[in-house]
Amino acid sequence: MNDDLKALVRTIPDHPRPGILFRDVTTLLLDPWGLRQSVERMAASVPTRPDLVAGIEARGFTLGAALAVALGCGLLLIRKDGKLPGETIAEDYALEYGTDRLAMHVDACAPGARVLVVDDLLATGGTALAAARLVRRAGAAVGGARFLIDLPDLGGGDRLRAEGIAVEALMT
Ligand code: 5GP
Repeated sequence: MNDDLKALVRTIPDHPRPGILFRDVTTLLLDPWGLRQSVERMAASVPTRPDLVAGIEARGFTLGAALAVALGCGLLLIRKDGKLPGETIAEDYALEYGTDRLAMHVDACAPGARVLVVDDLLATGGTALAAARLVRRAGAAVGGARFLIDLPDLGGGDRLRAEGIAVEALMT
């Protein structure tokens, strides 16, 4: 599946810790053809135009912005807590060791809006689920989630689907 794009992703061993194989998408983003194809194929996988694309900091911003332009919708930034200037709501999510917190401007999406969550990579799903909870707390609907890469052994796709979120990724 999308082996041509897969070839542009670099694997870095022992990052950020020994034993982790980090899938580095910066090499794909550097490639003009790869970047365009990624955005076009992601856009083609979205059956109904959402009102907003929610990009998750930081690599989700790059793809999210391009996808929002391709789909003709707005871009909602979901950031690490403490970085947005206005009033925010926040959600904690589990990391391998400890927790982290994502935040969104409280007025970023109108109740009833359909929001597509976008990030570069889906692993355990903790990050994307926290983003989805923020969107839902604002009264909006999560109209799916899109990723460049899904690591299915880590179960994120199953976790998102259990929450009623349609998940697709360009590669596994
Ligand atoms: P999860 O919350 O699904 O366990 O982890 C996904 C989050 O961690 C995403 O925001 C993603 O950017 C980051 N992440 C985890 N592992 C990798 C990796 O191997 N490559 C990249 N590019 N991001 C990763």
